[in-house]
Amino acid sequence: MKRSERYFRENIEKMVELMRTQAPEHHFEFRDPFWVLITTILSHRTKDEVTDSAARALETRYRDCKGLSEAEYDDVLKIIGKVGFKTVKAGRVIGAAKIIREQYGCSVPSSIDLLVQIPGVGRKTANVVISDSFGLPAIAVDTHVQRICYRTGISKSQDPEETEMIMRRIVPEALWVGLNPMMVEFGKNICRPVGPKCDICAIKEYCNYYDSNKGKESGGKKKQSRD
Ligand code: SF4
Repeated sequence: MKRSERYFRENIEKMVELMRTQAPEHHFEFRDPFWVLITTILSHRTKDEVTDSAARALETRYRDCKGLSEAEYDDVLKIIGKVGFKTVKAGRVIGAAKIIREQYGCSVPSSIDLLVQIPGVGRKTANVVISDSFGLPAIAVDTHVQRICYRTGISKSQDPEETEMIMRRIVPEALWVGLNPMMVEFGKNICRPVGPKCDICAIKEYCNYYDSNKGKESGGKKKQSRD
């Protein structure tokens, strides 16, 4: 069955409801906009538990935007030691803190357009801050959301920004807040990168991948990052 954008627009509310039944509760290490921003900058290609622990260690050491903006690069590098691409990210979190302090008086802007001007902040990170911290409607497309959308057929694109635009067209705005964390957990639990649990998946009847791979995939375990 070939599924169109119209098909998904008509079925997405049911799909979201069904995914929610198989998505464990998401753990939010922070809700404060500044630390959500820093955590998300650190999260690229890094396991959630490593990211959360590094961000928490930074928060314990520097407390806030002002503290991190004055941090020494080598100290930050040591603190975030296990994070992927740590040499780049150490500079980026200090740089982001400096910009938030100097341009916004240590108050993180609730605007995607302003957030993406900060080096190291792309649309995914900006959308996470807007949605998870400010509670404003936004859809962050990380690796889990991208994978689920691509497999089901919601998105024909492997580009997260294009997928975000498709999702913005088909998902009612009232469902945007909380959509990313729910899909992240559904992606870790059911629509896993390796060995998706298609046989027990609540949305298999809406999925192109299921149609073409019935019975072929099972098993396999892999730790996930938030990307
Ligand atoms: S049927 Fe399989 S591929 Fe499709 S959404 Fe479910 S787990 Fe993912």
